[in-house]
Amino acid sequence: MPALEAELTVPPATHSRFAGSIHFDFGVIPGGYAWLFPKKNHLSAGILARGRQAKKLQPNLLHYLENNGLSRETDIRSIRLHPIPCRPHRRNRYADSRGLIVGDGTGLVDPVTGEGIYYALKSAHIAALALKRHLKHGRPLALYDRMLKREIEPEVLRADVLARILYGCPTISNHMLRRYGDKIGAKHVAVYLGDLTYQELYAYVLSLKGFAYLLRPRHKTRRRA
Ligand SMILES: Cc1cc2nc3c(=O)[nH]c(=O)nc-3n(C[C@H](O)[C@H](O)[C@H](O)COP(=O)(O)OP(=O)(O)OC[C@H]3O[C@@H](n4cnc5c(N)ncnc54)[C@H](O)[C@@H]3O)c2cc1C
Repeated sequence: MPALEAELTVPPATHSRFAGSIHFDFGVIPGGYAWLFPKKNHLSAGILARGRQAKKLQPNLLHYLENNGLSRETDIRSIRLHPIPCRPHRRNRYADSRGLIVGDGTGLVDPVTGEGIYYALKSAHIAALALKRHLKHGRPLALYDRMLKREIEPEVLRADVLARILYGCPTISNHMLRRYGDKIGAKHVAVYLGDLTYQELYAYVLSLKGFAYLLRPRHKTRRRA
């Protein structure tokens, strides 16, 4: 999932226009989102997308900035492309007898937002426990693989299903967000605050009235002769 990030130097009046707000704008690009928020002396903006849209990040970011009134007055100080290694899969292996991997290397980043600091710290913490057990008690290093599959992977796999619905099925997700956007948004924030898990958010979204109907398998109807 590539992300294009820009740092913008803007006049103080423009900077204060964005003070105290963080924008996450879905729908700016199919399969992803754009962000815009102030840092101490400049603005940070960016865009990321899954799939084919990833080739169109730059024109979409410039268009997004223009829509936020950041065209002529903006000095783009730096613009950089970063890979976000978002590839959760049950068959991933995180350790063997020779070593273990942590952080972005595991592919365990949040598939909805591309954020990975929380999971990077969590995997590092689990790695430290696994190493301690290995060095002190001779437990196999490969146990780390099982610990990650229990502690982090289920969360990321559930989040990945939600991301696939959000980005891959815009008709369904637009319909659901129009109806339940406030509630889903509040629960998503609770996930970030650590008060809810992605597994609980997933169960909530699937329990919403009409959702199972929208996701039902559609049988092809035979064409009339
Ligand atoms: C534009 C952008 C914005 C992001 N914003 C957020 C955010 O708001 N919140 C969030 O949670 N996540 C965010 N992320 C994701 C987050 O940055 C990563 O998930 C997180 O930094 C992963 O930590 P890490 O330690 O695994 O890897 P990194 O932070 O990438 O650290 C790896 C380090 O290893 C070094 N290194 C690489 N190769 C070698 C080598 N051969 N020898 C020695 N050193 C080496 C690198 O220089 C680097 O310092 C963002 C990512 C991008 C690209």
